[in-house]
Amino acid sequence: MPISRRTSLCRIATAAAAAVSVPLLNSATTNRRKARIAITFDLEMSRNFPTWEQTNWDYEKGNLDDATKRYTVTAAQRIKEAGGVLHGFVVGQVLEQADVGWLQTLITDGHLLGNHTYDHVRVTAKLLEEIQFRFKRAPWLIQEKEPIEVIRENVQLCTSAMKSRLGHAPVGFRTPGGFSNGLTDRSDLQHMLLNQGFKWISSKYASHLNGSKPDQKIYDSIIQAQARSQPFVYPTGLIEIPMSPISDIGAFRNGRWKLEWFMEAIRLAIQWTIANRAVFDFIAHPSCLGVIDPQLKTIDMICRLVNEAGDRAELTDLERVSKSI
Ligand SMILES: [Zn+2]
Repeated sequence: MPISRRTSLCRIATAAAAAVSVPLLNSATTNRRKARIAITFDLEMSRNFPTWEQTNWDYEKGNLDDATKRYTVTAAQRIKEAGGVLHGFVVGQVLEQADVGWLQTLITDGHLLGNHTYDHVRVTAKLLEEIQFRFKRAPWLIQEKEPIEVIRENVQLCTSAMKSRLGHAPVGFRTPGGFSNGLTDRSDLQHMLLNQGFKWISSKYASHLNGSKPDQKIYDSIIQAQARSQPFVYPTGLIEIPMSPISDIGAFRNGRWKLEWFMEAIRLAIQWTIANRAVFDFIAHPSCLGVIDPQLKTIDMICRLVNEAGDRAELTDLERVSKSI
């Protein structure tokens, strides 16, 4: 389906929602807070995509291919037309590419870009060889350093690259990988990130059931995980905005799901979010979702669900969510 038709459908949905939903709300409902839905992309390459044999991305997570960049830009336009913005998280390596105009355009268009470390490092690593594939192959790059030092530098390097090449500081920090407990047990990392100027992070990914084909139990488990995926403040003052299950990687790599099953899980999760006036932090990777869902059906569905909810829900970004915590 050509973009223009899909775009106009999104607009029609927006107009229709605005026209019919407001009169249906009673005063008790309008006094309640809106559900807030953010659409976030981790801007990196993903092993097993676009072909299952592809694993070299582990060593060049930030070397985005043209398809991934195009998908990101198209998705961002689609979200903007529906009244929202895309919140992307940058792997700093991408800023070594010859052309970063697509990222500059995203910023100019009002989209937000956060820090996802320079080399996609595991921030909780206790050993040098656990930090990242690149450093396992080329350990001389980090030898004789402490893991925490390497991680601190890697976060800082991404910020420096963004400021230097894009002229903008990162808006928030997302850890590569998610942790079921967030960084609850790592106050040292919380302080490290606070010291680097981050007021909020996105590091928690609540555990839930998964399988090769989702049944009711799996869908229920994903819905139940939404309540454990709401923003909170660590004792250090750092804000956590968890990623909301299920991620595209969880569905398409770990479960090898079909697109319709993923869309159903996201639909149910957003329904729960709207009913509970909660927060939903959609997490996807254009290098993965773009392969399985090239027509952006999932993004369109999210926009449609939010717009159909009228005054009960809004598209947002994680910076705005953090300011309301
Ligand atoms: Zn990542």
